[in-house]
Amino acid sequence: MQELLNDAASRAARYLNDIPGRRVPPCSEAVADLARFDIPWQDEPHDPARVLAELDETGGPATLASTGGRFFGFVVGGCLPACLAANVLAGAWDQNGAYQVLSPVAARLEAVAMRWLIELFGLPPDTGAGFVTGATLANFSGLAAARHALLAREGWDVGSKGLFGAPEITVIVGDEVHASVLKALNMLGFGRERLVRVPADGQGRLRPELLPAISGPAIVCIQAGNVNTGAFDPAAEICARAHQAGAWVHVDGAFGLWALAAPKRAPLAAGVVEADSWAMDAHKWLNVPHDNALVFVRNPEHLRAAMAEKAAYLIEQEGREPCHYTPEFSRRARGIEIWAALRSLGKSGLAEQIDRCCRLAVRFADGLRKAGYAVLNEVVLNQVLVDFGDAEKTREVIRRLQAEGLCWFGGTVWQQHTAMRISVSSHATCEADVDESLQAILRAAAEA
Ligand SMILES: *Cc1c(COP(=O)(O)O)cnc(C)c1O
Repeated sequence: MQELLNDAASRAARYLNDIPGRRVPPCSEAVADLARFDIPWQDEPHDPARVLAELDETGGPATLASTGGRFFGFVVGGCLPACLAANVLAGAWDQNGAYQVLSPVAARLEAVAMRWLIELFGLPPDTGAGFVTGATLANFSGLAAARHALLAREGWDVGSKGLFGAPEITVIVGDEVHASVLKALNMLGFGRERLVRVPADGQGRLRPELLPAISGPAIVCIQAGNVNTGAFDPAAEICARAHQAGAWVHVDGAFGLWALAAPKRAPLAAGVVEADSWAMDAHKWLNVPHDNALVFVRNPEHLRAAMAEKAAYLIEQEGREPCHYTPEFSRRARGIEIWAALRSLGKSGLAEQIDRCCRLAVRFADGLRKAGYAVLNEVVLNQVLVDFGDAEKTREVIRRLQAEGLCWFGGTVWQQHTAMRISVSSHATCEADVDESLQAILRAAAEA
């Protein structure tokens, strides 16, 4: 075991050391070589050291180097050293995070990480939380709590009676709602066609003056950080209006909620703490390994009512049982990595990580504007949208950059404009990465 783990550690370290000098996307030969994995499953056991070597030699080159400093696609985030190291050690522990009895250490570290984050975001001290895979499941969990609470208020226990015949819940979303909220609502039985959509402005912010009159049970879904522009819905105004009508406000803050960690960016999220539930990724901007996210619910009893189940063989102790707040029973003890991130960064380190990404996004935007290209969004956070003239040219710039491989960007269509997306979400990105990538963009744009 010792030899095997040393081998794994040195292969992992070599992989990371090589990243600054390698292409961000894998080359086509490396992807073609994945065919080596396509063998008939053999009868005999295979030496673990050989398994690891095959994985490293064939798998490693076919990775996307998203943990490096020049990956700007989607909103992915890197991986902090303390988190990777904690992930390796916790892998050896192989804890099941479901119950305190299964892992006292996982339960305690989750409780500590949860408390630190509640303080950091300024949420009410007895806010509850669940540790889930991603913002999609965090949205699902927050909305499940909402569904449970609103129907309970109508005298309907959705856990026992289900949705058929239940009082109707109106669900209101902004026009630029994230796909994961639609997916969560769809899985919860709300149905895409039943949603009430409110127009958004040019930055993707829900326009509160166009909110319909709300009566009866209702959920209003807002976002803190639009996936394309980084813009925030005006939470204070929306929460005030929704709460007047007794509605539940759910915030998709997958990456944007982290603005609250950086004093200079926090005003963007003004009012989000007034909401009733919040979804937030840790694997994005906190730079924790995948998969890792949290759902927060103002009244933890609503989340618990939606999630907790009992069975005679399951041992419950005093205090917080983690699986009472998540869709899963058995799961990875993913809070360990969140704790490691917060412990290693400290408040100032986290503030600097968030703020630096925002400054680097502005650096991209300034460079692009100076070269005469149109930046489509107000660069308030870590997201930049750039239009190189027309849709075909913009797509060609993205194609050229992905083929060259020095850096990586994806595309989008933002309110009818084809654009290249730039997301700065990694601790590993520095000014030199941005400047080198900017040169690559300008070269590709000139050639296109
Ligand atoms: C990424 C993202 C999600 C979905 O998160 P996953 O971690 O992929 O499940 C939801 N909302 C927003 C705004 C996002 O950026």
